[in-house]
Amino acid sequence: MTKERLLAVRRGPGSAKVHGVTPSERTGDQRRPRGRRAPAATLDRPSRSDRVEAIGELAEEGLAPREIADRLGLAPSTIRKYRRDPEGESERKRREDYRGRCRGCGRATDGSHGPSRGPQWCMRCAALRRRRWSDEQLLDAIRDWARLTGSPPATYDWSPASAPAGHTGAARYLDEPGRWPNARTVARRFGSLSRAVARAGLGS
Ligand SMILES: [Zn+2]
Repeated sequence: MTKERLLAVRRGPGSAKVHGVTPSERTGDQRRPRGRRAPAATLDRPSRSDRVEAIGELAEEGLAPREIADRLGLAPSTIRKYRRDPEGESERKRREDYRGRCRGCGRATDGSHGPSRGPQWCMRCAALRRRRWSDEQLLDAIRDWARLTGSPPATYDWSPASAPAGHTGAARYLDEPGRWPNARTVARRFGSLSRAVARAGLGS
């Protein structure tokens, strides 16, 4: 018995290879008749290059962007975008231009929101800002900082986005994300950072 015949027997009747192609291969993407595409949800999300290739093939068949869009379940604007910018290079550059600067840490923020829409806070700082510090936790942070560094936090220490480059306190703040509250948070709660420092018992 040949190996192929053996496999066919193991699969049972009705699943034997026909012309060297198994039933599952026959219904694969390439063999699926036009207009009978599997619902997108059942497939893994295709990569950009997969889509660009599919769009290119349909465009060669003479389909208009709108028809290609229907066929692939994408918006016509997406089809045009992929045709114009197959590698995504200009989109990447644009996103780079649209980045904002995080008010918390000064890092670049997400650029995918469009022109002048870069978020004011990076994802990490946004999450940290949602953390609710109690007054006592804020005062404890001030005391901890003073204990570790020898002096209470100054504004630049806890607002590294506005600190000059190479500022030691700001660098420490950035190295320990989430450990220290932002100067603005403290100031909002206590009126100013120096008032909070005084409340922590460290006023001059
Ligand atoms: Zn940030």
